[in-house]
Amino acid sequence: MTEFETIDGQLAVGGVPVERLAERVGSTPFFAYDRALLTARVGLLRAAMPADLQLSYAIKANPMPAVVQHMSGLVDSLDVASALEMRTALDTPTPPARVSFAGPGKTDTELRQAVAAGVTIELESENEAVRIARTGAALGVRPRVAVRVNPDFSVKGSGMRMGGGPQQFGVDAEKVPALLKTLAGTDLDVLGFHCFAGSQNLRAEIIQEAQQRTVELLLRLASEAHAPVRYLNLGGGFGIPYTSKDRPLNLTAIGENLAGLLRDEVRPRLPEARVVIELGRFLVGEAGVYVTRVIDRKESRGRTYLVVDGGLHHQLAASGNFGQVIRRNYPIAVANRIDAEPAEPVTVVGCLCTPLDLLGDEVTLPGADVGDLVVLYQAGAYGLTASPTAFLSHPAPAEVLL
Ligand SMILES: *Cc1c(COP(=O)(O)O)cnc(C)c1O
Repeated sequence: MTEFETIDGQLAVGGVPVERLAERVGSTPFFAYDRALLTARVGLLRAAMPADLQLSYAIKANPMPAVVQHMSGLVDSLDVASALEMRTALDTPTPPARVSFAGPGKTDTELRQAVAAGVTIELESENEAVRIARTGAALGVRPRVAVRVNPDFSVKGSGMRMGGGPQQFGVDAEKVPALLKTLAGTDLDVLGFHCFAGSQNLRAEIIQEAQQRTVELLLRLASEAHAPVRYLNLGGGFGIPYTSKDRPLNLTAIGENLAGLLRDEVRPRLPEARVVIELGRFLVGEAGVYVTRVIDRKESRGRTYLVVDGGLHHQLAASGNFGQVIRRNYPIAVANRIDAEPAEPVTVVGCLCTPLDLLGDEVTLPGADVGDLVVLYQAGAYGLTASPTAFLSHPAPAEVLL
């Protein structure tokens, strides 16, 4: 979270100091993403992971087309969850077969587009399988699918749990063998399996255990497959630190564990399979900042408030209202005086007329005043597109990639 460069006492994104960047963008607030940090991040991950493990970018974390284009050049595949995300992915050089389309409730129109495009559809139910087969017959195209499995275990310590127990995601593991039998009688190209159990996990030992159990489960199911298994998507869920209490993930431990699983379990049985992990937040989350400008400074009964021109309508998660149980401050700084010593406790609030719009609760910052630029870090994932931009009817912020 401090990987951004400092130039002339200012935070810099892509080599541009923040005041100059604000002039270039023309208005605040805005999101700025750093291309070099994205590249470095993928490099860091690749260095820790086994060489024959492939990397997919889940673009819902940050679907800005320029970001997706850049990521396309770095990863092996792209994961999408809507028709518009699919279009963004298909605009990149990533081949359609390397685009996977997951998510419950895909409409007939979306399925038709996906089959026509030739992407890999991660099928989420028996009913969806029937609809995909019907679509393929209508278009004269053999759909490529992978079965998304709702595992028979759940992953503790995830910010969001998306597998185990009853779920809207995937097909319950115990029902998969019967589904595979049904699929064998249809004209679907069943490539393999997908399992995604949860998100925002910072505990390596839990991720390792989940990967171990996922591999065991998918290999068990692979032995029931009616066609060669060419695709195993093990999910992801790698978290990033958001608060001073969080520690970064131990990638080395995860990589070593995965290398052992691939070597000892997967390769002897599925030598040809493309083995994938799919990550969103971990790849892009730390490479972005949300830049706001102080428009008022006021005292109220002993508390100092900085009112900025942004807020939860752009960066909901920083206000603590995007799935958090306890509100904790996201890392925050006065970006145009980044080297100044912290001097006073202030409460940073957004411009929305609701007490929910709290961006920094009694944070210690260098003395800041009207016109200063306040940034929130960790804004590269689930920022703008995960926020209620229409709430209070303020203009949409710009997004730039440098
Ligand atoms: C959201 C999602 C991801 C990405 O999750 P992150 O926590 O951002 O890494 C990956 N795969 C699927 C199927 C998803 O729904």
